[in-house]
Amino acid sequence: MHEITKLPEMRAWSRAERAKGRRIGVVPTMGSLHEGHLRLVDRARDRGDRVVLSLFVNPLQFGPQEDFARYPRNLARDRGLAAQREVDCLFAPDTAAMYAAEPLVRVSPGPLGETFEGAARPGHFAGVLTVVAKLFHIVEPDLAVFGRKDYQQALLVRQMVQDLDFPVEIDVAPTVRELDGLALSSRNAYLDPDQRRAALALSRALRAVEQAWRGGEANPAVLERRGLEVLKTPGVTPEYLAVVSETLQPVKQADARSVVVIAARVGPTRLIDNVVLGEGVANDVSVRGA
Ligand code: AMP
Repeated sequence: MHEITKLPEMRAWSRAERAKGRRIGVVPTMGSLHEGHLRLVDRARDRGDRVVLSLFVNPLQFGPQEDFARYPRNLARDRGLAAQREVDCLFAPDTAAMYAAEPLVRVSPGPLGETFEGAARPGHFAGVLTVVAKLFHIVEPDLAVFGRKDYQQALLVRQMVQDLDFPVEIDVAPTVRELDGLALSSRNAYLDPDQRRAALALSRALRAVEQAWRGGEANPAVLERRGLEVLKTPGVTPEYLAVVSETLQPVKQADARSVVVIAARVGPTRLIDNVVLGEGVANDVSVRGA
């Protein structure tokens, strides 16, 4: 596995591989790798010849009161996991390499970036799209793989690629969960055992909404009330629970493409999750003890 920290070296590696006719897939992450990230690597490998895994905790996407400083970082462990999963190139630039100075120009996410996560975290999606745009220019991938776990992020990346004509195919992979339903997240490391149990309310609420919908209820307000009943448990503070269209717009009737999006705090930790109604939580990927 090649390990690269410098931008020009990354671009040179990528261009040399492409010159040999190889298709390059990139998996952007903030490190602290778990099985959810590694499944994205598997998909990139299935759809391309070379896999670049990027590890970069992007300061631009964290608000001033958020967890940038304490976000879990473990390069040695990530390196081992990436090598085991046969990543071809680990791209792990430091902040100074990615941002010689704080960028004055940022990618504006537009109205899709102002609701849900965008409303809760002002500037977050501008930070995400800016770093993804930079990464695409540095790696020049044919393909990039994102997780549905961050539904709004994946939607915005697709929109950016479409609106700004990036020559990159975007693939979005299903959410990877623990056997009890908790979606894998680097931030799960913040949860103590009681909070870990309480956090199951998110996937339980998604399942409750899904069940009600399968039972014939299509009114989004009724479905949302049902979800909130389940989400509101001791130790969990709901932020939002909404039944929306695949582009996160209000719907009159929920259908198979509708998405249930959730954000809640468990203690001080903010968690998000979602399900596409027609696919269901049970069709996400479940893994043991991740
Ligand atoms: P992060 O390191 O949390 O920024 O995530 C990097 C990529 O991994 C993003 O595309 C996420 O959507 C994806 N990801 C994170 N958690 C999961 C999960 N549980 N299942 C699938 N993809 C995930």
